[in-house]
Amino acid sequence: MNNCLIQYFEWYLPPDSNLWNKVSEDASHLSNLGINYIWLPPAYKGAAGKNDVGYGVYDLYDLGEFDQKGSIPTKYGTKDEYLNAIRILKENNIKVLADIVLNHKLGADECEEVLAIQDDVNNRNVSITSAVPIKAWTKYTFPGRGDKYSNFKWDWTHFHGVDWDEQTKRASVFKFYGKKWDKEVDQEKGNFDYLMGADIDMNNNDVSNELINWGKWYFEFTGVDGYRLDAVKHIRADFFPEWLDEIQKISDKEIFAVGEYWTINSDILKNYLEKTEYKMSLFDVPLHYNFFKASISNGEFNMSEIFEGTLVKENSDKAVTFVDNHDTEPGQALESWVLDWFKPLAYSLILLRQEGLPCVFYGDYYGIPAKEVVAKNEVLDKLLKLRKYFAYGEQIDYFYDQSVIGFVRQGDFEHSDSGLAVVMSDKDGGMITMNIGKKFANTMFFDYLGNTEEKVYIDGEGNGNFFCNGGSVSVWVKDSRYVN
Ligand code: CA
Repeated sequence: MNNCLIQYFEWYLPPDSNLWNKVSEDASHLSNLGINYIWLPPAYKGAAGKNDVGYGVYDLYDLGEFDQKGSIPTKYGTKDEYLNAIRILKENNIKVLADIVLNHKLGADECEEVLAIQDDVNNRNVSITSAVPIKAWTKYTFPGRGDKYSNFKWDWTHFHGVDWDEQTKRASVFKFYGKKWDKEVDQEKGNFDYLMGADIDMNNNDVSNELINWGKWYFEFTGVDGYRLDAVKHIRADFFPEWLDEIQKISDKEIFAVGEYWTINSDILKNYLEKTEYKMSLFDVPLHYNFFKASISNGEFNMSEIFEGTLVKENSDKAVTFVDNHDTEPGQALESWVLDWFKPLAYSLILLRQEGLPCVFYGDYYGIPAKEVVAKNEVLDKLLKLRKYFAYGEQIDYFYDQSVIGFVRQGDFEHSDSGLAVVMSDKDGGMITMNIGKKFANTMFFDYLGNTEEKVYIDGEGNGNFFCNGGSVSVWVKDSRYVN
């Protein structure tokens, strides 16, 4: 079976603490669609409590169990609802990936006086002041949890720096005196170790031990199967390989991990994969940007180059392909939303091909009511079924035209009548003669997406004249088997 991942949240979900219950009810439906991996949002209490999407981590041990930051549940529900959702997903043969946010913490319980050096916000290799005392929010004592699960309390020695001086009410990049930004991080802004909040110092032994202890606790306590690793470009490259190795030691199952390294440069991604010894996959950010550019180019994008400069082209085994995510949504920091008309084309290019692990975005499947983005579950259901039943066998590309491109999957013997032909165009409609294989000789094919009514005849050699409308995609399968 083809693997398929879903990202089961979007940024603007209402803070109703109901997502864990919703996904539990949705588990068998997702499984039927052929989804066998799910990425759930960060499950621990954030600084904004019930309103925190999850990336403003306050307490890694509070999975909606303690009265902290204004409520017991997180934005998505309680600890018991979370554990129950994981159990039900696994019963439905869906592997659960936890979202791991270890770069920073927010919402400290107390502040403390620390000597800090102010760095140039745009070039963190340059200091613009000498060491001066600031008041930093760095003391995490977790009064609502106490010592349950861990008695580790955080203070400034466990961090590199912060972006706020409570004394003078000033925002900047404050590096604590005696600390250095880690070198093996992204080179944007000179050194991109610092992202937000209180930046965790991975070189502090107490910190790395605590994060390993927490990782083992989380893995056993929740039963998750793997991870989506947040903000890896802001963390020294050798941290996660070590961390993953430590957790792998307590498990017989192979732990899957995918890192979020946000860059359009596939060379940087390849370099990071090498540095992390291929112990994680990475999201194919360059491919997302190709989709985005194609969708806003009014038919002037060169579709024959849609995979140029992408990770899935360079190292398909380590590429998690996606169309959009919670950060690329309208109104978000990395907004680069692939326009509606292009979504079926983009999803055809991740769901129906051989390479990459595709990730379907919740906001595409269920829509984003807060931004009036409509649900595309109808076309996604069809594409997911095409992936599950037809997208098998040898792949042949017909990427010759600037507008009309196509590819076939010739099918295999394991999946009867599998095989499909895809034609799409970002401009005018068109036709490509493609070879679907002799086993389909003298049969008729129809457009499973229903975008065209006519049928295509496959000749004795297995060739068909497959076509699509302008700004559209058609996916052709043998006209003898209906699945729904
Ligand atoms: Ca960092």
